Amino acid sequence: MSADCLFCKIVAGEIPADVVHETETTLAFRDIDPKAPVHVLVIPKAHHATVAALAADAPGLAAEVLATAAAVADAEGLTGPGYRTLFNSGPDAGQTVFHVHAHVLGGRPLGGMA
Ligand code: C5P
Repeated sequence: MSADCLFCKIVAGEIPADVVHETETTLAFRDIDPKAPVHVLVIPKAHHATVAALAADAPGLAAEVLATAAAVADAEGLTGPGYRTLFNSGPDAGQTVFHVHAHVLGGRPLGGMA
């Protein structure tokens, strides 16, 4: 756990979240400001700041995050119609929480890349 990390506090149960899926190593919860009918964040329970740091330091855990994202999409009925999984990295991409998280977005046509 990293001090003052919002998502570490969600993992610890110190801040509430609408959890939709949990494994031993990952947690998935609904985004509080959804950008699509389905907007779920998937995080590793362990603190890693970015997807690059996660891939370098814990590649097995990175794979578990991706597997949880796929399981969430399936449970939300998105596998057929399709969905988007994305990681923002750094300020120019708009990353605001520096505990790596995959956004899983779907439930409407998402259009091209912004
Ligand atoms: O990729 P980025 O860092 O911008 O995404 C952070 C996301 O975390 C935002 O979509 C924001 O709405 C979400 N969030 C949340 N619950 C909080 C704080 C932020 O779902 N308590």
